[in-house]
Amino acid sequence: MSIQTNIEYIQELKGKAAVKSGRNPEDVLLIAVTKLHGPDEMNEAIDAGITDIGENKVQEIMDKYDRVKPVRWHLIGHLQTNKVKYIIDKVCMIHSVDSLKLAKEIDKRAAQHDLVMDILVQVNSAEEESKFGITTAETDQLIADIAEQCPNIRIKGLMCIAPFEDDPEDVREYFAEVKKIYDKYVNVKTERMDFQHLSMGMTHDFEVAIEEGSNMIRVGTAIFGYRDYRSEEK
Ligand SMILES: *Cc1c(COP(=O)(O)O)cnc(C)c1O
Repeated sequence: MSIQTNIEYIQELKGKAAVKSGRNPEDVLLIAVTKLHGPDEMNEAIDAGITDIGENKVQEIMDKYDRVKPVRWHLIGHLQTNKVKYIIDKVCMIHSVDSLKLAKEIDKRAAQHDLVMDILVQVNSAEEESKFGITTAETDQLIADIAEQCPNIRIKGLMCIAPFEDDPEDVREYFAEVKKIYDKYVNVKTERMDFQHLSMGMTHDFEVAIEEGSNMIRVGTAIFGYRDYRSEEK
C-alpha cells in the first residue's frame, strides 16, 4: 500500500467517525506522525495532502526540519525543559505540556523570539505510571497557573494518550473524561486561553477517540507502516 492510499483510507475512516459523532469530516484534523521516518516519506505524505505532522523527539525535528516541504510541525512527545530552545521557533504547537516548570520555560523562550506559543495540556486520564501527563484532578490547577503566569503561551486545549488495549472500546472512558474537562473550557475565551483542540487518538484507537469528541488525531503506523526501532540505535 502506498502512503497516499493509506492517507486516503484514514481520511475516509476519520470522516465516518466524525459524521457518526455529529460533526463534519473536516472538523477533525489528521496529524501524520513521522517519527523514525525520513524526509522522503514525509514529503510523499505532504504531496498526498498532509498539512500537519507530529514528531515526538526534538532531535528528529532538528534533523529533518530543513529537508521537508513546508508543513506545520507539532511536538507531540515528552519535552525536556532544556530542549525547548531548539524547537520554539519551529513548531506550531506543543501537545505535551504537563508541568508549570515546562510551561515557564516555553513562555521564556517564546518571549525571546517575540512569539506566542500554542500549547495543549497533556492529561493522563488513565493514570498510567509509564506515561507522562497530569491527572484529571490536577488539570484545572495547571491550566490556571499557566494562564496566570505565562503571557507568551496560549492554551489551546488538551491532549491524551490512552493506554494500549487490545479492544479500543476499553479506553473510551479515558477519552470521555478528558472531553469532559475540555467542555468546561471551550467557551472560556481570554487572551491566554482559547480552547479549540482536543488531541486524542492514534492508529489503534482514533475512531473511538473521534466518537468521544477528539478533533485532532495523531496517526503514524496506519500511514507509514511499522517503525523500525532498531534503526534508532545507530
Ligand atoms: C507515535 C505516536 C503517535 C502515533 O502512534 P501510531 O500508533 O503509530 O499511530 C501518536 N501520538 C504520540 C504522542 C506518539 O508518540
